[in-house]
Amino acid sequence: MPRPVPAVRPTPDPPVNLRSLGRVRVLEALAGTRRLSRPDLMRRTGLARATVGSVIADLIRAGIVTDEDASPAEGLRTGRPARTLSLNRNAAYALGVDIGRDHVRVVLCDLFGEPVWDRDLHRLVDNDSAAVLTETADLIAQARRATGVPTERILGVGMGIACPIDRHGTLLAEGIMPGWIGVRPTDELRERTGFAVRLVNDANAAVLAEHRHGVAQQCGDVVYIRLSTGIGAGVISDGRLLLGASGLAGELGHVIVEPSGAICRCGNRGCLETVASPAAIARLLSAGGPASTAELIDLVRAGDRGAIRAIEDAGDAVGRALAQAVTIVNPELVVIGGELAAAGDVLVAPIRRAVQRNAMSWHTTELRVVPGALGDSAGVRGAAALVLADAPERLAVLVAG
Ligand SMILES: [Zn+2]
Repeated sequence: MPRPVPAVRPTPDPPVNLRSLGRVRVLEALAGTRRLSRPDLMRRTGLARATVGSVIADLIRAGIVTDEDASPAEGLRTGRPARTLSLNRNAAYALGVDIGRDHVRVVLCDLFGEPVWDRDLHRLVDNDSAAVLTETADLIAQARRATGVPTERILGVGMGIACPIDRHGTLLAEGIMPGWIGVRPTDELRERTGFAVRLVNDANAAVLAEHRHGVAQQCGDVVYIRLSTGIGAGVISDGRLLLGASGLAGELGHVIVEPSGAICRCGNRGCLETVASPAAIARLLSAGGPASTAELIDLVRAGDRGAIRAIEDAGDAVGRALAQAVTIVNPELVVIGGELAAAGDVLVAPIRRAVQRNAMSWHTTELRVVPGALGDSAGVRGAAALVLADAPERLAVLVAG
């Protein structure tokens, strides 16, 4: 079972009573695994048989938990008919939003975090936040119409955005997303949709998704790097999302890898982003080179030697920056994500080599460096996962109400 990752910005604690606390414990146990028997639940929650019985009865009545026959094999093993309990995946949903530099994506996920509706809108987002937020609200309305999921079953919206966000939920958009300076996207989207909105940096959202649904399940120490137009990292350390004093941990795109390199949009010189973003890589290629990341990846797949060399050199720079993170965080897993990850081994192999060469061998003996499992959907699914992490508390309160 994956170790827990706490919510990025916890919501206020709901009013607690012992009965709803019991429901929270049972729901948390069921959220961590697909099916459990009543004795399993007693062991995992530490609750008495009678308490588990009454909590389960409440949850079944509310349609949140289902009680079904276990497989015949399980019944045979125990010598009596076994019943197992599981969450009803349609009991609640969460909306995920991913706002990247050139796209807006919205998913509606069921209680298990699986998308039941998914749309990706290609558009530049840097300059016109009001229009982007209105289009996001339109996509959310489309999701609700298309699926027929009632409003009361949607727990809220998680919004990942390709911009640093401090602990107070303020976007640090200067030089990065000029149209978003001074904007409070959570308030703006809540006004347009009526849903509570949680905000998260896109790389933090992506590491949450890979931890919950992808390659980083079971891993307590993970560094995820998102290689897109912007570069950022999300770090899970000892089972917890690493935020830092200001909420800004993981800005690996602004680690300096070429001290005499180009001036970065952040104002420093030679940041990783100035050499390893798709735009920086494309600039190295001769005139008439790729106009988008997809075109760059197409060139690599077609065997273009210049494009391959440029990606390999970018991978080396990414690996040098990651080696610093590996030395400090000591992860068991480094996950390569973002649009550039579609370059596959042409990118990942030089990253692996540079991490090995630039970190101490003790840090790299057990370390795995792998592409993400969720591809471009990591950010948007992680944003929804942020809302679903609170599902046990939210559902327990609903039943109690
Ligand atoms: Zn920078």
